[in-house]
Amino acid sequence: MSHDSDQTFPEIREAVRRLCARFPGAYWRALDRDREYPTAFVTALTEAGFLSVLIPETYGGSGLGLSAGAAVLEEIHRSGCNGGACHAQMYTMGTVLAHGSPAQKQGYLPKVASGELRLQAFGVTEPDAGTDTTRITTFARREGDHYVVSGKKLWISRAEHSDLMVLLCRTTARADAAKPSEGMSVLLVDMRQAVGNGLTIRPVRTMINHATTELFFEDLRVPVANLIGEEGQGFRYILSGMNAERILIAAECIGDARFFIDRASAYARDRSVFGRPIGQNQGVQFPIARAYVQMIAAELMVQKAAALFEAGLPCGTEANMAKLAASEASWYAADMCVQTHGGFGFAEEYDIERKFRETRLYQVAPISTNLILSHVATHVLDLPKSF
Ligand SMILES: Cc1cc2nc3c(=O)[nH]c(=O)nc-3n(C[C@H](O)[C@H](O)[C@H](O)COP(=O)(O)OP(=O)(O)OC[C@H]3O[C@@H](n4cnc5c(N)ncnc54)[C@H](O)[C@@H]3O)c2cc1C
Repeated sequence: MSHDSDQTFPEIREAVRRLCARFPGAYWRALDRDREYPTAFVTALTEAGFLSVLIPETYGGSGLGLSAGAAVLEEIHRSGCNGGACHAQMYTMGTVLAHGSPAQKQGYLPKVASGELRLQAFGVTEPDAGTDTTRITTFARREGDHYVVSGKKLWISRAEHSDLMVLLCRTTARADAAKPSEGMSVLLVDMRQAVGNGLTIRPVRTMINHATTELFFEDLRVPVANLIGEEGQGFRYILSGMNAERILIAAECIGDARFFIDRASAYARDRSVFGRPIGQNQGVQFPIARAYVQMIAAELMVQKAAALFEAGLPCGTEANMAKLAASEASWYAADMCVQTHGGFGFAEEYDIERKFRETRLYQVAPISTNLILSHVATHVLDLPKSF
C-alpha cells in the first residue's frame, strides 16, 4: 500500500510481521472457536522482546517510547493477529514504573521484561459503577501490614493468564473522601497466591475471544507492601495509564483498518463479476478509498497523541480523540470489507467476520464513544456538563 514508506520503526514493524506470519488465520480461527488463549503467540512475542519495548533498559526492556509500542500493536493487528491477549502489559507496566517504589520496580519489572511474570490484568470496571469509576465499591480495609479486599469486578480480561493484576479499589468510601476522585488506591495483586484464597475468577463468554472474566473478592489479603504510590491517590495513577491504553488501542484499530483495507483491495482486484473485477466499479472502490482516507487521518491523531505522551505533556483529550477516530475508522473499514467480499465476508475461513467482531469492541472498551464525545464537548468546547 502507498505511504507505508512514511511509517515509523520500519525494522520493528518488519520483525513483528515476520513473527505474526507464524500465526496465520487458521491458528486464530481454532482459538476463536474454542475461546482459548493464544499462549504460543504471547510466548513468542515475549521471547522476541516485543512486550517489553516500553520497559526501561535498566529493568531489562528496550526503553523505547509509546510510539514503538503502538507500532508493535498496529502490525500485530494488520497481520490479522490480535494484541488483546497481551497489550495490557504495555500500559499496566507504566503504572508501576511511574508510581511504584524503587523496591517494587526492581522486584517486578525485570521479571515482567523477561517474561517470568505476566502483568496482564487491569482491574477497574465494576458492574454497578460502569463508566463512573468514582462509584466503584471494591474496598481494601487496612489490617496491620495487610489490606483485606472485598467486592467484585467485571470485564477483567486475561485474569486467568496473568501473574499480577493492577487493581483499583476504594480505601476510603466515596461519601467520606474529600472529593469523589480521592480515596481510591492501586494494589498490585499476586494472582498466583490470591486465587482460591479470597479471589474467585469466573470467565465471561463474549462474542470475541478475549479471555474476559468476573472477579469476586472475599477478604483477600494483600500485603501493604503491594500498594502502588500513596494511599488514596490511585485514581490519578490509573488515569495516566488510561491515556497510554487509549493510544495503544487506537494503534490496534489502525492495524485492523489496514488489515481490512489490504484484504478488500486484494479481493476487489481479483474477484470478477459481470466480466470485470468488482474493484473496477466505483461503487466498490470508493468505500475502500474512503476507509483509507479515514484510517490515515486517524493515524495522524494517534501519532499526535503518542508524541504528546512521550513528551510528558497533557494528552487526555488527544488520547481520547485518537481512540474515537481510530475505532470509527476500523469499524467503517470492517463493514466495508464485509460488503466488498459479498457472501465470503461471512465465511469463517476468510477471517473477515472474526476481525469484524473483534474490532467492534473498541467503540465500547476501554472507553465508550459517548464518554469521549462528552469529554470533548465539556473540556474542549466549554459546553455544559450533563453529569
Ligand atoms: C471484552 C471486554 C473487555 C474488557 N476488559 C476490561 C479490563 O481488562 N479491565 C477493566 O477494568 N475493564 C474492562 N472492560 C470494561 C470496559 O472498559 C467497559 O465495558 C467500558 O468502559 C464501558 O463501561 P460499561 O460497560 O460499564 O458501560 P456503561 O457505563 O454501563 O455504559 C453503557 C452505555 O451507556 C453510555 N453512557 C453511559 N453514561 C452516559 C452518559 N452520561 N452520556 C451518554 N452516554 C452514556 C455509554 O457510552 C455506553 O454506550 C472490558 C469490556 C469488554 C466488553
